[in-house]
Amino acid sequence: MMNRRQLLCAGAAGATLLGRIPIARAATYDLIVRGGRVIDPSVGLDAVRDVAIAGGRIAAVEANVAGDAAATIDASGKLVAPGLIDIHTHAGRSKEGPPLALQDGVTGWVDAGSGGADNIDQIAAVARGAPQIGRALVNISRVGVVPGGELNDINRANVALAQGAIARNRDVVIGVKARLSQNVAGTNDLEALRRAQEAAAPFNLPVMIHIGQSYSPMRAILPLLKRGDIVTHMYAPAPNGILDDQGRLFPDVTAARRRGVLFDFGNGTLDHFDWATVERATKQGFWPDTISTDWNVMSKTTGVVDFPNVMSKFIMFGMPLREIIASATVNAARVFPSFDDRGTLNVGAPADVAILELRDGTFEFVDNYKGTRTGRQRLFPAATVLAGKPVARA
Ligand SMILES: [Zn+2]
Repeated sequence: MMNRRQLLCAGAAGATLLGRIPIARAATYDLIVRGGRVIDPSVGLDAVRDVAIAGGRIAAVEANVAGDAAATIDASGKLVAPGLIDIHTHAGRSKEGPPLALQDGVTGWVDAGSGGADNIDQIAAVARGAPQIGRALVNISRVGVVPGGELNDINRANVALAQGAIARNRDVVIGVKARLSQNVAGTNDLEALRRAQEAAAPFNLPVMIHIGQSYSPMRAILPLLKRGDIVTHMYAPAPNGILDDQGRLFPDVTAARRRGVLFDFGNGTLDHFDWATVERATKQGFWPDTISTDWNVMSKTTGVVDFPNVMSKFIMFGMPLREIIASATVNAARVFPSFDDRGTLNVGAPADVAILELRDGTFEFVDNYKGTRTGRQRLFPAATVLAGKPVARA
């Protein structure tokens, strides 16, 4: 693979042939992240490497990058991963959200349904003003997420209004969200999902549903999902989660995955997962396609804490680190076309980098029911590079 330095050398050789005075000059980069353990599942890489960045893009990933750089980050002893992409957040609720998430290594986020047709424009404005790439799913309920449940009155699931919201925010809105728990939708879950699909269809957009404690069972909900749709809060406990009364995965769930429905973790704080469901499902091989947080600006004080903390819960369950990183980078990027060139450190990609520290010790993790489990390793955010520039620590 030819990197920037080799290109410059080739240029110098050309100049000599043309009879001009050659100027011996090593490559100059804007930034080199040196000596970290680079885990980039998009290219199957897990090795100590330097990452050189020029012009806001990845210029070289090599064992020893020669050349100068205006700035250097010493990443020895740390993990260097593509910038994290969190596909279930509520980062769009205020302009304070995106820069806070950036501190955790999150260089791309999706606000999953905070806003509906009546208030998505504010979310879209936050996304446009964010330092990193931010996108949103429009809630099929025109009011967005509200206490007491935005779908208890099914008239709020207005297809024409949702389509109008998408049409006027095509640069930000990349899907439709429907929260199907009984405390949100009452008995309207299936009708709300049908309307979400109807709103998304002319734009060819995915629908993300939030499951757990719904009125209808998974076997009624899942047939309404198409390839590329996302089920978040995948380990939500009964009633009406992914496991039957004996703790076995419903065949409908594995069938949905086989036909291309994606399953997302979505940590959250209330009723969205418990350790027993994670344990039973993962023992049957049912791991997340994507890991996400359901983050908001208060998450430091809840069981979410930060994205690397949420990822660490899966270390505890024995998920290989490269798969955990994949679930928070390349897998997440592949869910939405907006993130096509993200989630990778491939040469030429936008230089978004999450530098993480994997610490050994005793770490307590919490589910949504105050259940605690102790892990022996925890990922911590150490530094973030966005578009080739180190992000100042808050
Ligand atoms: Zn959420």
